[in-house]
Amino acid sequence: MSTKQKRFFLTEEEIPTQWYNIQADMVNKPMPPINPATKEPLKPEDMYDLFAEELCKQELNQENAWIDIPEEVRDMYKYYRSTPLVRAYGLEKALDTPAHIYFKNESVSPVGSHKLNSALPQAYYCKKQGITNVTTETGAGQWGTALSYAAKVFGLEAAVYQVKISYNQKPYRRAIMQTYGAQVTPSPSMSTRAGKDILTREPNNQGSLGTAISEAIELAKNTPNCRYAAGSVLSHVTLHQTIIGLEAEKQMEKAGEYPDIVIGCFGGGSNFGGISFPFMRHNILHGKNTRFIAAEPASCPKLTHGVFQYDFADVAGFTPLLPMFTLGHNFMPANIHAGGLRFHGAGVIVSQLLKDKMMEGMDINQLESFEASLLFSKAEGIIPAPESGHAIAAAIREAKACKESGEEKVILFNLSGHGLIDMAAYDQYLSGSLHDYEVSEEEIRNNLEKMEKYI
Ligand SMILES: *Cc1c(COP(=O)(O)O)cnc(C)c1O
Repeated sequence: MSTKQKRFFLTEEEIPTQWYNIQADMVNKPMPPINPATKEPLKPEDMYDLFAEELCKQELNQENAWIDIPEEVRDMYKYYRSTPLVRAYGLEKALDTPAHIYFKNESVSPVGSHKLNSALPQAYYCKKQGITNVTTETGAGQWGTALSYAAKVFGLEAAVYQVKISYNQKPYRRAIMQTYGAQVTPSPSMSTRAGKDILTREPNNQGSLGTAISEAIELAKNTPNCRYAAGSVLSHVTLHQTIIGLEAEKQMEKAGEYPDIVIGCFGGGSNFGGISFPFMRHNILHGKNTRFIAAEPASCPKLTHGVFQYDFADVAGFTPLLPMFTLGHNFMPANIHAGGLRFHGAGVIVSQLLKDKMMEGMDINQLESFEASLLFSKAEGIIPAPESGHAIAAAIREAKACKESGEEKVILFNLSGHGLIDMAAYDQYLSGSLHDYEVSEEEIRNNLEKMEKYI
């Protein structure tokens, strides 16, 4: 070969046909989700009114390490998979580092992020069960977009509650969801009791993710043949995202390398788990020593500053109690542009893995993240989502450490999405009006002290 290979792909036949369920291989299994009313461990049946039955079973499956990807879903994965594994020669050069930097480019999915990897199977399992309608909430808009498209693919009606402030500030996000045929409602709305209650008290309420979740869950529970779909945090979502790491494993093999460090940005843990877990299985089972770094925003630092305890996944306290690293379900993160990372807790699998020191958290400030994204844009040409900027910043920190030490480490990070619909945020950064949000130790402590011990 005359030139160095830049991108690594799989043929359609080489795309993995199973997802990897790390729960089966974990030394310490995640503790069970708890029904807050009975204080009993949750059974799959307890969630059948909310999610497709197959998803409820996947959520609690600690037996089977490998779960078949249905043929209908594999056919749809082929629309954009395999996604490229890219050697970041441009970034390496810009940093003058001896490290070998690779990224998995999930931004090439039709909706621009990794979220479609789970939206497709979720819509498929609903369809297979005879469900006709799906509903969800969306903040930044990535998840609502993915579910809108997946619903259309499998012939379902989608109703998306978009946080009102985002609905008004990001008209193109709404338009994309509507282009795919979804019904998009600004939340709080008059279509649910939860929404009506808020609007009666406060007609100008601009909404929050918590309220939008409450509205979607209420719609799912009150509408026959309608189910809710979750974009992150839950274990079945992360299961579907392991297609990222399973492909990357084969692609790294084609590149003749194995990662010393694997990095993902962290909201609820689905893209981080997706790229990490297939490699982590070799740490658990085969004595490998890869480091796994979850890059979270410094303004919402549940992994590095939270506590491990049972807490709700939503602000209203409607969900089961989950054993998680949390800042408290009423923690209100600052309004950073990486909307997909503004969540108070971590999923149950990653929480257990963090407790067992199988992975580490890393805090990244908003400005450092945008600085990293600009460097990456100039070096590799792709404009990253503000969420993905956190992973890039962490990769850059590690690549700089390699320069210091002279080590030729192999660094792999996940590029979870592109930022072409987030240019208002870049505009702010470029004009110098973007700033960091500090959350003090005291603020975090106060919030944690307010939290009840539910279990
Ligand atoms: C939603 C989102 C995230 C965060 O969610 P995870 O479940 O933690 O992966 C990260 N990046 C992008 C582009 C997103 O849309």
